[in-house]
Amino acid sequence: MKHLHNVDICNSSRQWCLDDFKVGIHIGSGRFGTVYRAQEKKTGAVVALKIVNKQELQKAKVVRFLKREIEIQSRLSHPNVLRMYGYFDDKDSVCMVLEHAPGRTLYDLIQTSPIPENTVTKYMTQIVSALRYIHGLKVIHRDIKPENVLIGEGNVLKMADFGWAVHDRRPRRRTFCGTLDYLPPEMIEDKYHDEKVDIWALGIMCYELLVGIPPFGDVENYVETYHRIIQIKFSFPNHISMNAQQFVKRILRHDPRQRPTLEVLENHPWLQQSREQQ
Ligand code: AMP
Repeated sequence: MKHLHNVDICNSSRQWCLDDFKVGIHIGSGRFGTVYRAQEKKTGAVVALKIVNKQELQKAKVVRFLKREIEIQSRLSHPNVLRMYGYFDDKDSVCMVLEHAPGRTLYDLIQTSPIPENTVTKYMTQIVSALRYIHGLKVIHRDIKPENVLIGEGNVLKMADFGWAVHDRRPRRRTFCGTLDYLPPEMIEDKYHDEKVDIWALGIMCYELLVGIPPFGDVENYVETYHRIIQIKFSFPNHISMNAQQFVKRILRHDPRQRPTLEVLENHPWLQQSREQQ
């Protein structure tokens, strides 16, 4: 199967239209978009087309979020970040041309059972690498969670969904965003936040992949979830290794300044040990 990045047409200046693609099966639906597998007619390259209805965007007052998503994601190029090759629109809809990730999302994976530790370390290494790249470009994702990580060819993870992302030259900003279980204390307490919100979410996601549920969640009562987040009240089941527990505990600090840098995480003994075993 040919992928678009392996052929020489991934050129953002190219103007596509729907007629340039053979649209195939429906592969997913999100809050605003419907995603199809498609083939670029000229090259035969396989892509994912995400089609978003303009009227629905306007009704939900999220046009600027989509514009920002396109602006940010189309500039990113890293093996662990889903590529956006371009976009086009017509009277009714906007269509994004995306790298096709044939696997499912990390969220789909944990629906059957938690993920073995030696796989989670490989996943964490890739997400840390993607975050180092985007943070280096002053982009904060702000919605890291298993639903937004796709599994590409060869089990390579692809960070996706930059709908909440910001390109931030200023150090901090205040916007309440993301998903309840993944909200960091500084957002709950309505304080300024920065790229450390992504580090927090990485810790929550690591716990969720290992255990199958997020650390602070209480499905009955979201106020209780807030309290647990503020108080950093969580525990691990006994079967999780000390190194894995330490990795998560090192991240989930109330004070964002006490959370480790991505460089420190990359060299954490848990990830290092797994690299040495390969
Ligand atoms: P979204 O609208 O981005 O939330 O996507 C909805 C669903 O479509 C996701 O949960 C995935 O299952 C699927 N999907 C989205 N983008 C892709 C892609 N580039 N490759 C394969 N599947 C995708």
